[in-house]
Amino acid sequence: MRGIEQLDQLLKDKTLGEAHRQIVRKVTENQRITFDEGVFLFEHGDLSFVGALANYIREKKNGDNTYFNRNFHIEPTNLCVYDCKFCSYSRLIKQRSDADAWAYSMEEMFDIVRNYDGQPVTEVHIVGGVLPQYDLPFYLELFGQIKAHRPELHIKALTPVEYHYIFKKAKVSYEEGMRLIRDAGVGSLPGGGAEIFHPEIREQIAADKCNAEQWLRLHEIWHELGMRSNATMLYGHIEQWRHRIDHLEQLRSLQDKTGGFQTFIPLKFRNKDNQMSHIPESTTVEDLRNYAISRIYLDNFDHIKSYWPMIGRTAAQLSLAFGVDDIDGTIDDTTKIYSMAGSEEQHPTLNTQQLVEMIRRVGRRPIERDTLYNVVQDFTDTVFEEDKQWRGYFELPVVGQ
Ligand code: SF4
Repeated sequence: MRGIEQLDQLLKDKTLGEAHRQIVRKVTENQRITFDEGVFLFEHGDLSFVGALANYIREKKNGDNTYFNRNFHIEPTNLCVYDCKFCSYSRLIKQRSDADAWAYSMEEMFDIVRNYDGQPVTEVHIVGGVLPQYDLPFYLELFGQIKAHRPELHIKALTPVEYHYIFKKAKVSYEEGMRLIRDAGVGSLPGGGAEIFHPEIREQIAADKCNAEQWLRLHEIWHELGMRSNATMLYGHIEQWRHRIDHLEQLRSLQDKTGGFQTFIPLKFRNKDNQMSHIPESTTVEDLRNYAISRIYLDNFDHIKSYWPMIGRTAAQLSLAFGVDDIDGTIDDTTKIYSMAGSEEQHPTLNTQQLVEMIRRVGRRPIERDTLYNVVQDFTDTVFEEDKQWRGYFELPVVGQ
């Protein structure tokens, strides 16, 4: 059902309370909802209600377009000076000899880049642990050499967690550091490291790394340079609804100021092999409600992304009816962050045809984008070679014509 028809159905429901109706009116009249209304939606918005509103907004902003890109990741190391309680991926420096620990040399990282020579990837996504020897000069060289080798490849690299650390170590200001990485070839920032901004939660799950103010400030400076970035929220652990809305509110406020965020990516807490393994994971219904409420609250964000290696392919497909219009990329089994945390996707790889089929199957238009949401190719009517192959039946001639 189209978003507008879903809203009509909602309003015909005689049992719908005044508070719910007020939110529907605001959404249809392009007014933003308040902090209290956001919390109200988490407390009292059932899946069909928030889903209808989110789908209406999604279709108004992006129609049926559903974006993906062709990308690969480099995770330079999983050794980390920090010890975030939810992290299944990192190893402390003293665990460097663990079988699961790695730290690539510069040459090994170039080998990964060179592996994609001649392949139609548009983006390399670089993010990993924080390790003292991977300092500012190290990363400037890495970025510069990738650009020298393949100038058209978009580098989306490192989060404020890493930048805060390496700029401090190099004794450069945030402003100077951001200019240096831009000049070395970084095209945009991924959204990681945001976790939950509110100090009541952040101090319990990620006490040592950059705080909310620093995370937001680094993105703000990046936006002031005319550059774009993404934002995330790690949800479904010890936070309350108000902490989620506080997080969304801080993102919405910065976006009002700079307009530099492209997409918001809710990240589901996974509980395998970390210090919060006793906490149950959120259900798929809660994941979908979270996508939908994020879509409703962040009225100034163009895109909401569900990250399929984290949530699984089926949930990613479902999310496209709950406000999401982007399901990320081909990945090519180059990230371990969520497989080590217990995701169903232990070797996340999708080829273009599989991504296109996933999107078509739920009635949306598959659009390959680059990192900055320029359209690379509209796959809506594309017929793949495999589609033309024999499917077990013959077309018979019609007799009597
Ligand atoms: S979440 Fe990032 S900063 Fe925290 S321990 Fe893991 S790799 Fe390190």
